[in-house]
Amino acid sequence: MSKKHTVPRGCADIAPPEIYHWQTLEYALRDVLQAYNYQEIRTPIFEDTELFARSMGQSSDVVMKQMLNLASQRPSEDGHPRLSGLSLRPENTASVVRSYIQQGLDRRESLTKLFYLGPMFRGERPQKGRLRQFHQVGVEAIGPHAQSPFLDAEVVALSADMLQAAGIKEFVININTLGSVEDKENFSGWLRQQLGARLDELDEEDRGRFDRNVFRVLDSKNAATRKVVGSIDMQQFKLSTDSQAYFEQVLKALDRLKITYRVDPTLVRGLDYYTHTVYEITSSALGSQDALGAGGRYNRLVSQLGGPDVGAVGFALGLERILLALNPKDDAVQNGPAVFVIAFDEDSFERAWEATSLLRRAGIRADMAYQVGSVKSLMRQANKSGAAQTVILGKDELARGVVGLKDMASGEQQDVSIGSNDYQQLIEILKERL
Ligand code: AMP
Repeated sequence: MSKKHTVPRGCADIAPPEIYHWQTLEYALRDVLQAYNYQEIRTPIFEDTELFARSMGQSSDVVMKQMLNLASQRPSEDGHPRLSGLSLRPENTASVVRSYIQQGLDRRESLTKLFYLGPMFRGERPQKGRLRQFHQVGVEAIGPHAQSPFLDAEVVALSADMLQAAGIKEFVININTLGSVEDKENFSGWLRQQLGARLDELDEEDRGRFDRNVFRVLDSKNAATRKVVGSIDMQQFKLSTDSQAYFEQVLKALDRLKITYRVDPTLVRGLDYYTHTVYEITSSALGSQDALGAGGRYNRLVSQLGGPDVGAVGFALGLERILLALNPKDDAVQNGPAVFVIAFDEDSFERAWEATSLLRRAGIRADMAYQVGSVKSLMRQANKSGAAQTVILGKDELARGVVGLKDMASGEQQDVSIGSNDYQQLIEILKERL
């Protein structure tokens, strides 16, 4: 026997009935995005590897370990990031910013509000809620007018509204500020001092993080590292007055919308591009991978990628994680035809074929049995389809110029004239009933 292929590791087929949960979710999310006036953008699923390395930071975990390079089709094995060629996108922010710069959008509008929805790829070690191909919905608000603290608050509010519209009732918004680029540098120096004295308590990986980018030590999941981090009083580090005032404005804007949040001074996010506001949304309905989404401000990214010096803020939510938290039931899904057409013999079959096609062209969700058979077997098939109405054709009906129309709930059956083969009466009755 020839080899059976299976879906690649860490990937999943999304087939019926599960796909209907995805569609319901996507429609709900799109409605909220539209209300906030974000426009959709679709970028390629791969880009120059260097784009991701420059935007996320060469020393970020994603670039170091998880890039799926098209040439090698493997994440790097030697511990060094692959910086050449093309890579599948591990996230979409870099691509959206690349597109913003390429199109010169800053010359066309003072604020560009874009959203995306699609697959992202990371060479992760797969586990529940962590895949190699997963899906994100996210937004980026970019432009000369993207500097307002109200926009930081807007993206937080938008992500919370999207989760609510999806049906997620409980989630926690953890928020923090990294301050301006200068603040971030000072904070980095201060952290290095605090952690430098206790390096022997960190494992090798976290010592590596300390050397490459000290903020990443704060993201560590290692218990010993977490203990060290937990014992540092982050409040001791003082941001500049301007940055502190900016963050207070963001929080006040959230208070005004009655959005609850928790300020977490250890939240830093592992990517180089963040400045000022950073936030993460978690759900207790998820296991160890408890993040539903995350985002923040990244004022330097556009200019770093060769674009104008404009502000930017955004977030991404994980669709698999939202669906895991929702755990929707398959029996709530309505996906069968509304009308099922059956024929008992070859002559009637051609009529059934024609009738089905006319119903479809009239916008009625119709399907048929593609083989003739006994009344019993065809009715069983009609029942199984879940259709509310069954159209029945046989010699007897043909002779009288009618079709049988059976209401599956009541079991009542009536004759309906086929007219001059246009099935007009049938279409009208069905449109009324459905
Ligand atoms: P990140 O850019 O890593 O903060 O990702 C943003 C969100 O995308 C996370 O909060 C998750 O909901 C989701 N996400 C990230 N990586 C994965 C993954 N490997 N599998 C499933 N969802 C993911």
